[in-house]
Amino acid sequence: MKVFSATDTGQVRQMNQDYLFTAEEPVGNLPNLFVVADGMGGHNAGDFASRYGVSVLVETVRKDKNFNPVKILRDAIEAANREILEQARSNPAMAGMGTTMVACTVDGDYLYVANVGDSRLYIAGRTMTQITQDHSLIAEMVRLGELTPEEGKHHPDRNIITRAVGTTDDIRIDFFDIRLEPQDQVILCSDGLSNMVEDDEIFEILQNSETDKAQLLVDRANENGGRDNIAVIVVQPFSDEESKEC
Ligand code: CA
Repeated sequence: MKVFSATDTGQVRQMNQDYLFTAEEPVGNLPNLFVVADGMGGHNAGDFASRYGVSVLVETVRKDKNFNPVKILRDAIEAANREILEQARSNPAMAGMGTTMVACTVDGDYLYVANVGDSRLYIAGRTMTQITQDHSLIAEMVRLGELTPEEGKHHPDRNIITRAVGTTDDIRIDFFDIRLEPQDQVILCSDGLSNMVEDDEIFEILQNSETDKAQLLVDRANENGGRDNIAVIVVQPFSDEESKEC
């Protein structure tokens, strides 16, 4: 397995509210764990929400006795949801904070993904495929046919999300399980990458570079304007096996 990760404040924002976590080694009963979180809320609340949410997620995974990856990810995101809500309720300055979360683990040939919000997980194999659905107002209007994908891309309300971790007691989490192909690369990112760099451009950078893939993606987002914080993880699950064959 090969993993690249990078995060950056971007060219416009003062603070980085994105947060990421990578572990190629087991975390509790998960064989590895990768998470991107994009926090929201003023006065340091957004960066607290993403950082704290990820730490609760990781600690919950560590202690979980289950063996089902979906159950483990669900428990962990639900715990993060409860803990962020509790902090928000006990501290008025942090009211309304929350975070997106996209998390995954590679178990053998299978990828297990959990998602809340508009951070994304893609698989770059023969083509670039977005696995997660954005939980955003605009993405939902596009799904309902009220906007074309092209109109959605440049819509001013693009940053309104419809689901987040830490904002309501009830949380709806999307899960995906995918059988991976040997050449697949897994990309987790915040909207600071996906809004600034087209999917084709991301795919091209991944295909044309061997090292520093995450940093190259962050650099491209900044070259394209860097209007938001950027966080990206690139996982090549089977890259060791490939190199051994050479
Ligand atoms: Ca963002």
